[in-house]
Amino acid sequence: MAKVLFVPFDQLNSSHGVLKNANKKEDIVLLVEQKRTLSKTTLHREKQYFLISSARHFSEDLKKKGFKTEYLISESFAEAFETIRKKYPQHDLCAASPNSFGAQEQMLKNKVNLLPNDFFLTSKDEFQTWARRQKKFTMENFYRLQRVKFNALMDGDDPVGGRWNYDAENRLPPPKNYSWPPYLEHKPDEIDKKVAEELNHQPSGIWATTRKGALAQLEYFLKHHLKNFGPYEDAVTTDNWALHHSLLSPYLNNGLLHPQEVLDTTLARFNEGDIPIESAEAFIRQLIGWREYVHGMYWFLGREYRDENQLHANRKLDEFFWDSSQTDLNCMKQTISDIEARAWTHHIPRLMILSNYALLTGIKPMEFLNWMKDVYVDATDWVMVPNVIGMGLHADGGRMMTKPYAAGGAYISRMTNYCGGCKYNPKLRVGENACPFTTLYWDFLDRHREVFSKNHRMAQQVRGLDRL
Ligand code: SF4
Repeated sequence: MAKVLFVPFDQLNSSHGVLKNANKKEDIVLLVEQKRTLSKTTLHREKQYFLISSARHFSEDLKKKGFKTEYLISESFAEAFETIRKKYPQHDLCAASPNSFGAQEQMLKNKVNLLPNDFFLTSKDEFQTWARRQKKFTMENFYRLQRVKFNALMDGDDPVGGRWNYDAENRLPPPKNYSWPPYLEHKPDEIDKKVAEELNHQPSGIWATTRKGALAQLEYFLKHHLKNFGPYEDAVTTDNWALHHSLLSPYLNNGLLHPQEVLDTTLARFNEGDIPIESAEAFIRQLIGWREYVHGMYWFLGREYRDENQLHANRKLDEFFWDSSQTDLNCMKQTISDIEARAWTHHIPRLMILSNYALLTGIKPMEFLNWMKDVYVDATDWVMVPNVIGMGLHADGGRMMTKPYAAGGAYISRMTNYCGGCKYNPKLRVGENACPFTTLYWDFLDRHREVFSKNHRMAQQVRGLDRL
């Protein structure tokens, strides 16, 4: 029976998902630009541009490959499905199982036939089987199983180099007088220019909008950045906004790249012999460990998990999250202005600056979560819900992470060069020039003293508070 194959904007891949077994002669491929979500005023323009232009390119690429496609601009998926069903009444409407609870509800409500989702290395069922057997959901345990399962950096039954984890080597502060290799620029083509014009947006040139561009980015990373990725992965510096980070997450998350091909090419590059194990391990950990773990936890923890607020945080998001010029905290100003420029920062500004600020000051988890989803080019629901609710804000009471990622100015001072250009002093807890992060850190411990004194991993910090 002929089908309409619906491809959402986070499954843009002709070898996976609903297109895996497509019949080019009979089937119709459907893409829908959903105005309701894509024209939200809070959505970062760079993200809108990336999502829309990638989908339009993908549709054109499919046509060149001989697929029959329909690209609809509709208010909602429901409206688009109604249109397509009228046009192709004999066709069965199918899609790969969606990547979020919200999309899943919409597909079921609209009676779309759901097929298996193979955009991840670990299926939902496989992950649930693992998670149900755990007392604590320790990522490291899951990651080690993944290393064995995918034979990634293994020497027989043992990890290459004799250790599973090189985190200790990978926490260097920003280097001085270091020459960072430039990052690849992606020049806009006619489709990009048209999308940019419609959105009245000047693209940064950082993000590719085609599979070809995504593959070029992968190759460039492996050639120029993987070697030194590990040691500086946590550093943050005004000298370079990306350091040695891969910038591949937007393509992994919208389907232009599949994790299996990134894994295979990375292992092949490692086998050439000049990549240090601490860099290869750090990248593989993100790819087959953390990314798959977060995706699995999203489905395992369930639809209601996003509503958790166990620390009873109730502040509104500060205005400066929408305008970096309105804060004099240099670390916040630099991070938010990086987001304004290109809708991206690496994981440490996300976790240890932005989320840390939201955690310490008690911003409502849902407000912060929605902001993160809107402003990061690679943010999807499955990425952000566990990362924000579980890891960043400890709003789940420790179900995912046993202790909160709370830090004062000393951590930011060590891992960034932001404090030198700030009117505050990270070493001061009180007074006019005291660093707000330092003051707020102790205030946070004090506010939640009762809860944290029962947590053995926080005992040392609570004792530190008692000494003050
Ligand atoms: Fe941020 Fe405090 Fe450093 Fe200023 S002194 S940049 S507020 S950590």
